[in-house]
Amino acid sequence: MNGTRFTLEVQPILPERLQRLQELANDLFYSWDREVRGLFFRLDRQLWDECGHNPKLFLRRVSQKKLDRAAQDNVFVEDFNRVLSSYDTYRQERYRSGLEEYLDPESDLIAYFCAEFGFHESFPVYSGGLGILAGDHCKATSDLGVPLVAVGLLYHQGYFRQRIDGFGNQVAHYVDSEFADLPISPALDAKGQEVHVQIHLPGRGVMLKVWKAVAGHVTLYLLDSDLEANAPSDRAITHQLYGGDVNTRIQQEIVLGVGGVRALTSLGLQPTVWHINEGHAAFQILERTRRWVAKGMEFEAALELVAAGTVFTTHTPVPAGHDMFEHHLISSYFADYIDDLGIGMERFLALGTMPENPHVFNQTALALRGSRFHNGVSRIHGGVASEMESYVWPQVPPAENPIRYVTNGVHVHTFLAREWANLFDMRFGGGWRNELLSQEFWKRVDEIPDHGYWSLHQSLKAELMVDVRRRVRAQFARNGCSDAECERLMRFLDPDESGILTIGFARRFATYKRAALIFNDPERLARLVNDPERPVMLIFAGKAHPHDEPGRHLIQVINGFSRRPEFEGRVLMLEDYDLSLARKLVSGVDVWLNNPEYPLEASGTSGQKAGINGVLNLSVLDGWWGEGYEGDNGWAIAPHGPEFDPAYRQREDARELLDLLEHEIIPLYYDRNGHGFSDGWVKKSKQSMKTLMPRYNAERMVMDYVMGFYAPAARQRRRLLAEDAAGARELATWKSRVRKLWPGVRVSRRDPPPAKIRAGETLPVHVSVELGGLTSDDIVVECLVGTEGERGELLIHDQYQLTARETDAQGQALFTLDLSPTLPGLQYYQLRAYPYHRLLSHRFELGCMLWV
Ligand SMILES: *Cc1c(COP(=O)(O)O)cnc(C)c1O
Repeated sequence: MNGTRFTLEVQPILPERLQRLQELANDLFYSWDREVRGLFFRLDRQLWDECGHNPKLFLRRVSQKKLDRAAQDNVFVEDFNRVLSSYDTYRQERYRSGLEEYLDPESDLIAYFCAEFGFHESFPVYSGGLGILAGDHCKATSDLGVPLVAVGLLYHQGYFRQRIDGFGNQVAHYVDSEFADLPISPALDAKGQEVHVQIHLPGRGVMLKVWKAVAGHVTLYLLDSDLEANAPSDRAITHQLYGGDVNTRIQQEIVLGVGGVRALTSLGLQPTVWHINEGHAAFQILERTRRWVAKGMEFEAALELVAAGTVFTTHTPVPAGHDMFEHHLISSYFADYIDDLGIGMERFLALGTMPENPHVFNQTALALRGSRFHNGVSRIHGGVASEMESYVWPQVPPAENPIRYVTNGVHVHTFLAREWANLFDMRFGGGWRNELLSQEFWKRVDEIPDHGYWSLHQSLKAELMVDVRRRVRAQFARNGCSDAECERLMRFLDPDESGILTIGFARRFATYKRAALIFNDPERLARLVNDPERPVMLIFAGKAHPHDEPGRHLIQVINGFSRRPEFEGRVLMLEDYDLSLARKLVSGVDVWLNNPEYPLEASGTSGQKAGINGVLNLSVLDGWWGEGYEGDNGWAIAPHGPEFDPAYRQREDARELLDLLEHEIIPLYYDRNGHGFSDGWVKKSKQSMKTLMPRYNAERMVMDYVMGFYAPAARQRRRLLAEDAAGARELATWKSRVRKLWPGVRVSRRDPPPAKIRAGETLPVHVSVELGGLTSDDIVVECLVGTEGERGELLIHDQYQLTARETDAQGQALFTLDLSPTLPGLQYYQLRAYPYHRLLSHRFELGCMLWV
């Protein structure tokens, strides 16, 4: 055919009775409410898939006939009204009781900044774990009624769509979003005007448009630089998620950090707590500080005030995950800004400095120095982060520095399969939705009859197999496989024979995640998966970052194994891992495998998604599983840490993995009773579901933030803000005095210490402090008593504060304590001094400490 092809789209008119479908399509509530999505699905399931599960796009394309027919269909209309009424109830219920104890829902507001948000596959402004976690945070926040607004960037191109070609190469496709099809609208100010804000880049201003997306009770504001007012290169700043070069990166982060603060101001919002979710958003600290400086405050006091109300979460121990900018970039982008802050370049650069690499500005360092509440995302990661970032508090032992942890959790309504939700409704009543924090409640999982439990999971697996068949066919037919070849690949994917043990592995293909570990001994694995009595199936999926050559190579490796005769049909590598495939996999497989290189998995969340669906975890004891594993709720690979030789680690971890598979997992799964299922498996799966559901869901995570971070930050900010910020000024002045004088402080013991005392006696402890210009009120002297650990460290048992006695004319202060030990026998004690002020958020936040 010759000539131009013109596009025409016939847009339907919503029948009166179904008018509010439009409203449902415009609230990201649909991203976690399966009933809402079910309405669209029922209207036209093929179109629903074709539209990438995007309700707005769907409503533009659905046929008038189908809509009219649905409007006449009383069953549909009744269901529609029921969904609407539960939506309306959700919208009306604001605060879950108990919150007022921590936050004032009327005046407190948390501003949550993140570079990506993963709500749903139809809204592609995320790449992976971080974004999905941010989406889950917002969803759980909405469920709980925590007052929060989120701030991010509106990318024209989200993360790439992945294809895997016939050679196992990853081919990246970037798809432009049509903003009209996204669940967003321009944000409006009080006068009903669109909100546009300006930021400054070297030699020019850049205008940003603010969009908003509604997700239940949470509003997400997204910034967009693609405006006619901007030069073409500036229009491209928000074009691609993590796209472009280092200039694009710093520009995106200025848009997010500086632009984000300005957007909230223009909207008339006044957050009381600011949460920086990963270092990308750290520049917000500068903008908030600048605003106080503009009101006449001195920089250091302004920074104290800002930091007091700021929470920072770091998400990875992998160095490449931490943004660092060369100093020349910082000085070119922030030259004017530094003047506005009233400080010099040196002070500015010091905010982002790290001793290991003094020529870069590290966003993690800035975020830590500009916040007083910091955390990693699992117990293990909290410890790793404390070590990694210990330079911020150089004299403080890492274990005691202010980095704590909140273990990640997943949003249950997003990732729990509909069939499980229905079963809970039937068994427990709809109230289970309010019991996500109760470990007691979830013991009721045991009430579910074993057979029903097993068969529900089997039916989810059958559903997964149908979906996998569809994906395999599309993927391999495109790569030129014949029908016969496709059938051969799918010969074990029989939804009617879904009793085959199926293992899932899906995540980002970063090398530390070691996707190919299970193939370390391919002969042994081949023997296991091909056992005619007890076969095994492995399903892989995941994207590698387009610039990550080793990551892309891993995809080829897995793909290569999947095409070897001994693995063909037993091992599948699916393309285009996204939220939609994730939901299916984490509920449909039997075992969820995770074998990262310890301790590089900060938390991991996909295993939590699997766990709440009764899927058993087989994972290295790293990240969340280091806490989640209890001995009887899954399987653990005890990792070999970085102290071992890499080849040895790989071999031993792989051997342990295959041992577990061969000797525990396969036998347990195939240990079928007279009713065709495995009692032992069901028992373990129930144990997993009931222990993991109440502990690794996003409501628990959000409440941990509320109680341990948001509420203390709100309180700390109020303390420093009171009386015209007198506290912030006092603290800043005190800190600068201490920083200057601390190098002159000396501590020593005055009395010759006896090494033995009798039970019941006390030990007199006298410490002399050369104050170096400070006063004895500025200093705490502390005695730690304990025993010695395996690595020679002091295991602290008791801590005592010494009392300040007299100070002599030379500035020597005496501190004393009559120590009465509570431990018997051999023990150790240590003495240390650190600066102290009642307005500190954390007693060691200055990072100063001296030991006797
Ligand atoms: C949950 C999820 C992730 C993160 O999983 P990890 O276990 O942290 O690797 C990444 N991508 C998608 C699509 C997910 O759903």
